[in-house]
Amino acid sequence: MTYAQIVFPIPFDKTFDYRIPDNLKDKVKIGQAVVVPFGNSIQTGYCVALADKTDIPSDKIKFLSGVIEDIPPISEPILKLARCIADYYLCSWGEALEATLPAGVRKESGVRQGIFVALDMPQDKIIPEIDRLKRLPKAQKQAHILNLLISSGGELSFQEIQKKLGISISPINSLKRAKLVRLEKRDILFDSYLSGSVTKEQPFPPTPAQADAISKIKDSLAKNKSDTFLLHGITGSGKTEVYLQVIAEAIKNNKQAIVLVPEISLTPQAVSRFRRRFDRIAVLHSYMTEGQRAKQWHNIRNGEIDVVIGARSAIFAPTKNLGIIVIDEEHETSFKQESTPRYNTRDVAVKRAEIERATVILGSATPSLEAYYFAQTGSFCYLEIPERIENRPLPAVEIVDMTQQKGEKDNTLVISKPLELAIKESLKEKEQVILFLNRRGYITLVTCPKCKHIVRCKHCRTALTYHKKINRMICHHCNTETDLPEICPECAYPNLKKLGSGTERVEEYINKIFNPKETKSVSRINRVDSDIMRLRQSGKEALDALWKGETDILVGTQMVAKGLDFPNVTLVGIISADTALYLKDFRSAERTFQLITQVAGRTGRGAKGGRVIVQTVNPQHYSIIHASRHDYRSFAAEELKYRKAFLYPPYSHLLRILMEGKDEAKTEVYGKQLAGKIKEFIGDDKDIEILGPAPCPWERIKNHYRWQIVIKSKTADFIHKLYHVYRKDFNSTSKSIRLTLDIDPLNLL
Ligand code: ADP
Ligand code: ZN
Repeated sequence: MTYAQIVFPIPFDKTFDYRIPDNLKDKVKIGQAVVVPFGNSIQTGYCVALADKTDIPSDKIKFLSGVIEDIPPISEPILKLARCIADYYLCSWGEALEATLPAGVRKESGVRQGIFVALDMPQDKIIPEIDRLKRLPKAQKQAHILNLLISSGGELSFQEIQKKLGISISPINSLKRAKLVRLEKRDILFDSYLSGSVTKEQPFPPTPAQADAISKIKDSLAKNKSDTFLLHGITGSGKTEVYLQVIAEAIKNNKQAIVLVPEISLTPQAVSRFRRRFDRIAVLHSYMTEGQRAKQWHNIRNGEIDVVIGARSAIFAPTKNLGIIVIDEEHETSFKQESTPRYNTRDVAVKRAEIERATVILGSATPSLEAYYFAQTGSFCYLEIPERIENRPLPAVEIVDMTQQKGEKDNTLVISKPLELAIKESLKEKEQVILFLNRRGYITLVTCPKCKHIVRCKHCRTALTYHKKINRMICHHCNTETDLPEICPECAYPNLKKLGSGTERVEEYINKIFNPKETKSVSRINRVDSDIMRLRQSGKEALDALWKGETDILVGTQMVAKGLDFPNVTLVGIISADTALYLKDFRSAERTFQLITQVAGRTGRGAKGGRVIVQTVNPQHYSIIHASRHDYRSFAAEELKYRKAFLYPPYSHLLRILMEGKDEAKTEVYGKQLAGKIKEFIGDDKDIEILGPAPCPWERIKNHYRWQIVIKSKTADFIHKLYHVYRKDFNSTSKSIRLTLDIDPLNLL
């Protein structure tokens, strides 16, 4: 073949023909990364086809310059998958291909050994050190390095620090002399997830429900039927055991498995369950360096791995003979990629399975309504595990109507009487308590009772959160900080109202009730949220302390809602079940149901049973009532009725067109013009609805005004047609407006 068709990771979905010079004839293969002249520079692209003809005249055609031999060719199925992603999510083939390769592979970082820099003192002592260094004229770089290490979980390779901060080794050496960090030379693949020994374990004899699921999945596997199973079972019902047994079967037949979990639940403990069964495991997680990920990728590609465990992007792992894809906690929003290509991992998994004739298992206690609907209507196979292992009962859930509870004088009641009593009882029995609240900080809304002014971020318009420990108000979008005003900035009224509590205030408040100064009672209270996480990797210390029984009451955000089970936790309190309901999003009921169910799953795992107390000002809301009865089916039935009536997914596909601009009027005008054209195109088609243009619920972020148009269509086809007709408009926006197209968006804020 004389010509190669090349695509580039640019937002332009087109292939470009190049002539292959004779000396590269044997080296240019389909899927191969190559370098070619493009415009005035040399670019990396991917060969997607070879041809012996081209439309380009022979005096115009350019020659391909070289082949990147360190990147093995992308396999045919992944090329095909990337093409499908480009078609569906409206990006270019090159952009989709780039998303399938880890950055370290693309950059050919083939290093095997590296120098690692690790913090060498307890993390809570580091912060004062950083502050001290910041005040020294010549130690700014050292302070930056420490900050970077903290936000990266305590250690990084020297390479990576150098790349991120552009520094030499000398500030690192100064830190080493001050005994703040240590340096270690080791194999780049060293990974705490896979280190330490584990005792091998035999499969459990399955329960009847597990056995039924296992046999159906094995059957599909044997016949290469590329079925998708929805495995619906509450936490602790034995879903993971099902995954383990069918993966063992796949490995026996020389196939590989990809197991996808939300990043937040990707912990060494979760991985060790797989290590107890299987030997050849690769883990891909965000604490790894690019070099480590690249090494793992090559190991998978070379056929040295049976089971790949990772977050979202592991769906592209280059297995040779894929048998099974598991997506655990299928409903989690982190399975949607929020940058180009904006794919949903579930849908990509189903597509990949179709191309490679593999089997997909979606596991969840609270399936997304999309997955549930597809399982009800026959596109997916529905499997249910209705009971917990050993028939452990589900915790009783009590609803406390907060409108009926009397607060303190400032009206912000944090803990109701029933919850306070329940905590007391648990403490008396030496049992543990988890209190959950989805808002960090101390006060989430500061407002003027006289002129109704709300203290907001000047860049984002969102309300600022007051953080007491550092005595500052912070914007949770852009991290801008200001002081807490003493008087209303608008009308100078002196008594600003402080509404809405965050985790920091809940922690303080329960300290006040359960450790009053006058008595010597000691309840050990701990908190885990992303403010704390900044200091300690994954809040692991806080969870370890709970596990070891060193904490009586743990206060936290959703981080406490996932993963581990604590047999001695007998009470879970949800401080406010309403946080998601306030969001202007059609999925808010679904989120509320999921949240209560997941948090409730943290208790009653041991022999002592458990109870859950849900504080809400919406005690009649169907999501809260059904969640309190552990009744997914009734919730789904009611929610689906509403989705159908208003043409929302799973009864439709959405296209979100987000327009962001610094000039409010221009953004609005642009939105109106675009909506006008789209309306014309829709005509009187009853299967399509258009919402907007309207300001997004988050009207302004980082000085950009945000408007959106949402199109609801019974078929994705219509959305694609619309895109192709108006492609020019979508691509050639005036420079002052940033346009984002999101198909099947999960986020409409
Ligand atoms: P899930 O993934 O649904 O949360 P797991 O698979 O983690 O559930 O199972 C919960 C607990 O029950 C685990 O400790 C697991 O080892 C145990 N388990 C699972 N299946 C069985 C079984 N068939 N017999 C005995 N114990 C089991
Ligand atoms: Zn802001």
